[in-house]
Amino acid sequence: TAKRHRTGVALYDEARDGQGRHRLELAEQLRAAFGRGELVLHYQPKLHLGGDAVAGVEALVRWQHPQRGLLYPDAFIDVAESSGLMGELTVAVLDLALAQTRAWADDGHPLEVAVNVSPSNLVDERFPDEVAARLRVHGLPASALVLEVTESLLMEDRERAVAVLRRLRDAGVGIAIDDYGTGYSSLAYLAELPVTELKLDRAFVGTMVESPRNQAIVTSTLQLSHALGLRLVAEGAEDQATVDALADLGCDQVQGYHLSRPLPPADLIGWLRARAGR
Ligand code: C2E
Ligand code: CA
Ligand code: CA
Ligand code: CA
Repeated sequence: TAKRHRTGVALYDEARDGQGRHRLELAEQLRAAFGRGELVLHYQPKLHLGGDAVAGVEALVRWQHPQRGLLYPDAFIDVAESSGLMGELTVAVLDLALAQTRAWADDGHPLEVAVNVSPSNLVDERFPDEVAARLRVHGLPASALVLEVTESLLMEDRERAVAVLRRLRDAGVGIAIDDYGTGYSSLAYLAELPVTELKLDRAFVGTMVESPRNQAIVTSTLQLSHALGLRLVAEGAEDQATVDALADLGCDQVQGYHLSRPLPPADLIGWLRARAGR
């Protein structure tokens, strides 16, 4: 075709233009999605390793797109961030997650819920009040909520982020460092941040049974967390051997496909009832 005969540069620009248009269109659709109830949450359970009780759930956002079906976060989180919609998305997710947590509590399943927050939330001075207001509306104590932040997020505007986190922590909200071990300067900020939990990235957890090096990383992260009075949650446990190894080492909580994939609320309630009835 004629296109094939163009220069590489022309082809590149064309592809980028197409992508730019696609992203703009997606941002417009996402803006409308909030009001249309197209954002839905799936919940992945976390287990206490000493005793097997369900510790809580992590809320993971999905977009039920009218034409394209169920979209996962990697298809739209970047677009939300670059088009300034992330603050709104987080509040929408927080509201859905807290409403669901209230309903579970009323059904006899008091759970802690974890919500992922983005860099734009942590430089927004109104965010702590927004969180407190949402907790009040849903009649939940701050201790029912954990906010997950990533290490890279703390690099952006560190001073403001630390101030926002401190206000959230003072209000009683839990703060987790997500994907722990994959960012920079893992240790420098641990002393200064009001953190309550580390979530060790699945890059280390997934292979710890076969890899003595990764197992050593799990062990030393566990010692560090406990020395600092933090709880350690291992992410990405995909088999029983990994769960057993984590329990032997004294890890606090585990999350991963072996326990359960992220589930829609209707399926999660079934999962909870089945576990409670065992
Ligand atoms: P994350 O916070 O690290 O969430 C865990 C991701 O790992 C989830 O993917 C989950 O399905 C997946 N996972 C859980 N257990 C296992 C396992 O055993 N093995 C493997 N291979 N994977 C496992 P998901 O739902 O596609 O989310 C991807 C990322 O999108 C999240 O990573 C988080 O960074 C972001 N994200 C999701 N929901 C939200 C949200 O509401 N707000 C923000 N800001 N980001 C979100
Ligand atoms: Ca997370
Ligand atoms: Ca993670
Ligand atoms: Ca991640």
